[in-house]
Order: sequence, then C-alpha cells, then structure tokens
Amino acid sequence: MKIRADIAELLRAGHRDNAISKQLGVCPKTVARHRAALGLPKDPPGRTSHTSLEDAWRAHTEPTDDGHLLWTGTINNGVPTVRHKGRRHSAYLIAYRIGRGRDPQGRCRPDCDRAGCVKPSHVDDGPGRARTRNTLAAIFGQGAAE
Ligand SMILES: [Zn+2]
Repeated sequence: MKIRADIAELLRAGHRDNAISKQLGVCPKTVARHRAALGLPKDPPGRTSHTSLEDAWRAHTEPTDDGHLLWTGTINNGVPTVRHKGRRHSAYLIAYRIGRGRDPQGRCRPDCDRAGCVKPSHVDDGPGRARTRNTLAAIFGQGAAE
C-alpha cells in the first residue's frame, strides 16, 4: 500500500485514529491500516492520548524551503496557539522552550522577517531581542539596529 505522508506524520505525532480521520477527511480504516503498516501501537480505546505538548506543537509546523518553520495550526489574536489538555499555549513560547530549554522572559516573537514563523532558533523573548539590538548597535553604531 501507499503510505500517505500526512497520515504518517499525524500518527507519529501521537494522534488518535478518529482524530486523524476527521482532520484529514479519510476513512478511519485507512488510518488504522497506516498505523499497522508503520508498526505503531494501536491507541487504547477510551483513553486520552499521551501526546506531549511538544508533539502537539510539532504536528502543526511545516518547514519552508528557505529555512523557516511555519505554523499551520490555530492563530488566536495574531498568536499561533496550540491546544493541549484543554489549555491554550503560545506556539512561540513552546518554540522558545524547545530552542533554549528554559522559559522565556517576557513575550516571545519570531526575530526573522517571516510572519508566523515558529522555528525555535528564530523565536526570541524580550531580553533576547534587546541583546540582539545591543550587539548590532555595538558593531554598526547606534541606530543601525532600529
Ligand atoms: Zn523564521
């Protein structure tokens, strides 16, 4: 059988069969066949998935040819948002945690010029952005980084 990349990706991200079939508009049996073909364990009926927040985040990202990572999930008030266990999280914040291994100080935003980019190395918090500006100012003179 031919493996569909979108189904395989969601399965690997830990999504449940019926969630995937609903999201992609495919038959649950097709999803189950993919699961078997990929050698992934069946999800136990009636139990919530063990998808981690990071996996949930990853399932909504899409790399671009020019090195960014675009958010394909929900945007809430202009902020990419991922729902996990009934709570909403900023996708920028999760990207920052993945990239730095710690919580950001202040609001996170992409520092690149690509709107909606959630690439961990492109997302910075307030102090991080100020550091970048100061470094640029030190190299090129005041005002260069404005
Ligand atoms: Zn970027």
